[in-house]
Amino acid sequence: MSHQPVIDGFEFATAGATQEGTLPLSSFPRLQDLLVSDAGDVRYAVHGVRDERGRSSLELRVRATLQLRCQRCLAPLPYEVSEQALLVLAGSQAEIDAEPLDVESPDRVVAAKDMDLRALVEDELILALPYAPRHDGCEARPEGSDRGASSPFAGLRGMMQRKH
Ligand SMILES: [Zn+2]
Repeated sequence: MSHQPVIDGFEFATAGATQEGTLPLSSFPRLQDLLVSDAGDVRYAVHGVRDERGRSSLELRVRATLQLRCQRCLAPLPYEVSEQALLVLAGSQAEIDAEPLDVESPDRVVAAKDMDLRALVEDELILALPYAPRHDGCEARPEGSDRGASSPFAGLRGMMQRKH
């Protein structure tokens, strides 16, 4: 069994603790579907802090280069992720649900004695990914566009010409 980075949420935040490490991309099951290759690592750092309202929080930083698939040419697309998030700890899910929804408010997570940092890092990576990644200025043409016969309108044009 590989090492599981686990922290006691409230204790970690109160102590102002720090943990840094590296996790292989292959260790994130939910991320796999989005990747062309799971080679490489994620660097992460988590710090115990308080938010501006004095609540125990975790400041999480993740850094990785992910191999996504360009949705235009379907070739691999290296994508740099460098994210920082403030996760305000909650004692329970009920405490989070009781708060009014506000896009301005920081993310909440339920604290536990054995919080799995791997899951927090994976959430952050998934949130950082673009919905439809593409190379900047990708020059690939959509499949088949260089062959007139494969255009969906080719047959239609033929029919219209026949009418005249
Ligand atoms: Zn492309």
